[in-house]
Amino acid sequence: HLSKFKAIITDLDRKPHLVVILVWSNPASLTYVGHKEKIAKEIGATISVHQLPTKSTFENVRDIIIESNNDREVDAILLQMPLPEHLKPHTRTLLDLIESQKDVDGLTTANLGALISWKQDSLIACTPQAVMSIVEAHRSDLAGKHMVIMGRSEIVGKPLIHLALRANMSVTTLHSHSKNIQTLTKKADILVVAVGRPDTITDDDIKDGALIIDVGINKQDGKLIGDTNIVDQERVDVTAVPGGVGPMTVTYVMHNLLAAYEANSKRGKEESQEKNQLSLSGYFFILLLLSFALLFGYMVGIYSPTISEMHQNWLPK
Ligand code: NAP
Repeated sequence: HLSKFKAIITDLDRKPHLVVILVWSNPASLTYVGHKEKIAKEIGATISVHQLPTKSTFENVRDIIIESNNDREVDAILLQMPLPEHLKPHTRTLLDLIESQKDVDGLTTANLGALISWKQDSLIACTPQAVMSIVEAHRSDLAGKHMVIMGRSEIVGKPLIHLALRANMSVTTLHSHSKNIQTLTKKADILVVAVGRPDTITDDDIKDGALIIDVGINKQDGKLIGDTNIVDQERVDVTAVPGGVGPMTVTYVMHNLLAAYEANSKRGKEESQEKNQLSLSGYFFILLLLSFALLFGYMVGIYSPTISEMHQNWLPK
């Protein structure tokens, strides 16, 4: 994927530009932004990271979003989650300030709604796209397969439900209020675990031959681990943590950046065409005024008395 993106970007005069807003909340976020920065640079895209201190206000974040929305040279905007505690209640409002065509994470209400209505040209959340691409690479004939998703957050579970439905799968979603969880996970052909707790799924919770997608990222004893702990890996296919869904998610950020770039460039062209049309109609208008003025002058010339006639009229008889 990335070498394909790099080849596309090499041929572009203006490079795709991603703005990342990171309000300092935890060290993990800095690591995630670092990965995005590294990959963006590798493929030749431009990335500007606004690092704001934890005590930043709603207005501080809002102003950067609005400025980036209005900047035609910015193609995509990413507000790194999670926000610090005092900004968390404003998460939805801040996300929805991002222009939907620049919403590289696909998290605005407009893009989430577009996904639900299966609109083709919207930007789709990156982790669910990453999960689906791994599923498609490792399983064929998805129609009718049973996907069980553990977790219903807006960045993973909820959008994934709709991507799986689009692929004609049968979907079960589990959350903290679900009952008989083990009975359900054991029925999954594809089990997606996005809970954020180590050992959520062990050998006793799975069916032979299942594909397990471990989305979780947890730090334990200084090591990164996922949400699953499966000892007998011969029974199932399971994605690695680190190295599985994480890198694919960053890949889909770059995929969405290119889509946002295309939309932004198209808009730029349409706007300059509109401007050209406006200035052309301006010229026509001036030409029309001049013609009227000439016509008026001509008519006045025909119907009004000549100066010598006027003089004669004024002269005393
Ligand atoms: P989140 O917002 O905290 O959501 C966790 C979800 O798990 C909630 O829906 C919660 O249910 C559900 N849950 C809690 N206990 C459960 C249980 N016993 N059984 C079933 N569901 C249960 O977390 P998130 O942002 O989705 O992230 C989840 C994990 O994925 C985290 O470790 C995060 O770091 C990781 N992540 C990784 C990537 C990547 O690129 N690899 C991207 C995003 C997130 P309720 O809704 O009822 O509370």
